[in-house]
Amino acid sequence: MENSASRRRVLQGLMASTIVIGFNLVKREWITSASAASEFESLPPLDGVLYTDSAARAAAADDFGHLIHRYPIAVLKPASVEDIVKVVRFARTHKLKVAARGQGHSSYGQPQVEAGIVIDISSLNTIHHLGREWAEVDAGVLWSQLLQLSLAQKLTPPVLTDYIELSVGGTLTVGGIGGTSHRYGVQVDNVIELWVVTGAGNLETCSRFQNKALFTAVLAGLGQCGIIVRAKIRLIKANPNARVFLLFYNDLTAFTRDQRLLVAQRRFDYIEGQVVPDASGGWRYMLEAASFYTLPNLPNNNILLSGLSYTQGTEMIEDKSYFDFANRLASTVAFLKQSGVWFYPHPWLDLFVPGTVAERFVGSIVANLTLADTGQGPVLLYPIRTNRLKLPLFRVPKEEVVFLFSILRTAPPDASTISRMLADNRTFFERNRDLGGYRYPVGAIPFSPADWQQHFHSVWDQLLSAKRRYDPDNLLTPGQGIF
Ligand SMILES: Cc1cc2nc3c(=O)[nH]c(=O)nc-3n(C[C@H](O)[C@H](O)[C@H](O)COP(=O)(O)OP(=O)(O)OC[C@H]3O[C@@H](n4cnc5c(N)ncnc54)[C@H](O)[C@@H]3O)c2cc1C
Repeated sequence: MENSASRRRVLQGLMASTIVIGFNLVKREWITSASAASEFESLPPLDGVLYTDSAARAAAADDFGHLIHRYPIAVLKPASVEDIVKVVRFARTHKLKVAARGQGHSSYGQPQVEAGIVIDISSLNTIHHLGREWAEVDAGVLWSQLLQLSLAQKLTPPVLTDYIELSVGGTLTVGGIGGTSHRYGVQVDNVIELWVVTGAGNLETCSRFQNKALFTAVLAGLGQCGIIVRAKIRLIKANPNARVFLLFYNDLTAFTRDQRLLVAQRRFDYIEGQVVPDASGGWRYMLEAASFYTLPNLPNNNILLSGLSYTQGTEMIEDKSYFDFANRLASTVAFLKQSGVWFYPHPWLDLFVPGTVAERFVGSIVANLTLADTGQGPVLLYPIRTNRLKLPLFRVPKEEVVFLFSILRTAPPDASTISRMLADNRTFFERNRDLGGYRYPVGAIPFSPADWQQHFHSVWDQLLSAKRRYDPDNLLTPGQGIF
């Protein structure tokens, strides 16, 4: 009943009147509601729903960046992994492109597809198992959801992103960096096993020990070889409390020197940092560190802060629950949503800068940076140690220490400002690339297939052969613009 009802809903939506709903880039022809309906006739019954109404398609033609809009012909909200297998096989037969979508928090069209099918994985959001060392979760589960459940067992994923309302599948597709990455690598380094629907339409499991070629092609693989449907994620013991230190510096070199020292010594559990506005219209630097603890063992502030050269007297120290610390962006996001700023365009720049040139490179940009360039968005700057990073497609400079440098811009909805910011992103990307740096591919940088080939460089052949093997018809994730 449910299956035929959902199929009828699709066909009704499409047949109501014959209109042009898109352009099939593969077949180079216009798609009308009637032609799409006749194509979907052959789709086997689904447990979930394939939406073709304009509201569903418009929602899938947008993301957090609000810079790119590509209209799919349909949006699948799967109710089972089998739905994804069926739709990928259907798409393959009909030469339609497919993009998975987690929470759509990319900034440059990465989860979108023109005249193809978006698979909105947020409807697959069950935590199947939570054990003492790992959790098995659907790809649509949010990190906040997993954290809440794991904390009830005094456990946590080793690495959390700053914002935890992102999907597991979405961050495992890009990497997933956070303030504990100097200790545990990125989120993809903490995955034990994956369930993947490949572009060939096969459901496969993979891990470091079994089907490794698929495992390494999918983690941080930008959705090119498969759709992650389920993941087994490592958990570690969680301390219930966090002591958070904000330390301010006027000098970039002193700031990064302390950051480098702290990550080398692993003195804190968490280290990040930001370039923040100062009172005189310039910039200063804020080191953000946290020490996690369980009472009665309080952190010793004197030991933690000894030898650091922040501006004495400006430090801010606060105790929070571990969950409140992990969820620290919730109130800011609520405010930004309420004020509408959250829905402004976000031409974000995210780079990995080689440690040996970080001060020179960042200093030269900050020297000319204004609040108009950032739109009051945060500017992140913090180091990670690359010996913690194990996945080949997570690309960072070949140095012991690299810095994440992100200008998380908010733009007014005005085309000239947006294009200036995108051009700046491109310029900064190129300068960093010429110094041996990489982009972190979540942001908005105009990028060509040749740029991607250069980005993957030493692992390009590996990615290419995985693509040919697992997505032979090049269906998956065209929004990245790689193939
Ligand atoms: C406010 C905010 C804070 C952020 N903070 C951090 C941070 O601290 N650290 C960090 O690393 N990143 C951070 N990000 C970036 C974020 O990790 C990425 O944009 C991530 O991809 C978003 O997850 P999502 O679920 O919204 O994925 P989406 O934007 O929906 O998808 C991202 C890409 O992955 C593909 N994809 C999605 N799900 C799957 C799947 N199951 N299988 C295969 N491919 C899939 C999509 O097609 C797309 O190409 C932040 C983003 C925002 C908006």
